Amino acid sequence: MRGIAILGSTGSIGRQAIEVLSLHPDRFAVTALTAHGNAALLFDQVRALRPRLAALTGVEDADVPDDLSFCQFLFGPRALEEVAARAEGQDVLAAVVGVAGLKAVMAARKAGKRVLLANKETLVAGGEMVMNACPPGTLLPVDSEHSAIFQCLQGAGPNRYEKILLTASGGPFRTWDREAVKNATVAQALGHPTWSMGAKITVDSASMFNKALEIIEAKWLFDARPEQIEVVVHPQSIVHSAVQFQDGAVIAQLGSPDMKVPILYAMSYPERLTTGAKPLDLFALGQLTFEKPDTEKFPAIGMAYQALSQGGAACCVLNAANEEACFAFLRREIPFGRIPEIVAEALQRHGHLPADHFMDIDRADALARECARGMLG
Ligand code: NDP
Ligand code: MG
Repeated sequence: MRGIAILGSTGSIGRQAIEVLSLHPDRFAVTALTAHGNAALLFDQVRALRPRLAALTGVEDADVPDDLSFCQFLFGPRALEEVAARAEGQDVLAAVVGVAGLKAVMAARKAGKRVLLANKETLVAGGEMVMNACPPGTLLPVDSEHSAIFQCLQGAGPNRYEKILLTASGGPFRTWDREAVKNATVAQALGHPTWSMGAKITVDSASMFNKALEIIEAKWLFDARPEQIEVVVHPQSIVHSAVQFQDGAVIAQLGSPDMKVPILYAMSYPERLTTGAKPLDLFALGQLTFEKPDTEKFPAIGMAYQALSQGGAACCVLNAANEEACFAFLRREIPFGRIPEIVAEALQRHGHLPADHFMDIDRADALARECARGMLG
């Protein structure tokens, strides 16, 4: 029986994690749950799963229903770290959105927990610090591409891969012309062709900042040099990524696009358990296609490589400016085309900052956000 705390249990990943672990009640026990503002769903989840600890991080207090007195409730942003550190059991699934997850991931590691990481912004902002806190086997990827790469490397033994082929659906604007993309609406950006996800990552997929974050995530998780990571647009989202070895062999991981597979693989690793995912039907698919990303239409990809070559806090700056721009777009304050412009400006102004200590990361994050907010008007 594995005890697991779910940070961000009311989100897309959190809900799917609960769905898939509920298929295996003899294997997993939920020890803690957190939400930001969705108290009603959190209370329902606590009622069903009976963890002893829960938190609402977006409010300082709330009326907890009387029947939930078996569970201790914490409130406010600091509660995320406290749950990560204090929850019973070995595993913490980091499924909150944004850099808000960074301190909680560090707290989980300090408490000796194994981290199952969906929250890629944490690794983008604090990559070096997080990896230093995560000896082999203590950080397992949940992001589908990184889970795929991790799965492809399982049989590699001492052989080091030569190249990572990081697949991308291309998002809803893959076939649009460049000018049209700049004026895309929120509804259009939220219409992802193959995956159903939270709003932020869906907009990131449309701008391809999601792939930019994933390039950086892959660099840290697999100790890759930037030039070893190649983005391959694959609109069907069946090949979840691949690795190439020096003998020319390419190992890929395939499956229907269903996050329950990588979520459960991180939880049950190295075992594989049933997920209820739709079996892959290659005959029904007929063909799989691949193309190069359009890096002029999607400048995010180039910015990821630029931030990696700059080093220091550049990736943190990229992430923070993108978070601000992405949520401003979702609030309909800026046009879609403004997102990469804001990130480029923040990188230009603050991409040189150091990232030697946690305080440096905090400062770079704050300066990038201030720069981005200054450009919203
Ligand atoms: P959602 O927006 O659906 O859910 C986010 C969760 O985090 C919710 O539980 C939300 O609570 C909580 N939350 C929001 N803001 C904060 C905050 N400031 N502090 C603490 N908790 C907060 O996101 P997703 O599930 O789509 O994504 C979660 C993470 O997983 C992201 O980093 C994303 O990039 C990554 N990921 C997601 C995939 C997907 O398929 N969805 C695929 C691969 C990676 P509340 O509901 O109360 O607001
Ligand atoms: Mg992904």
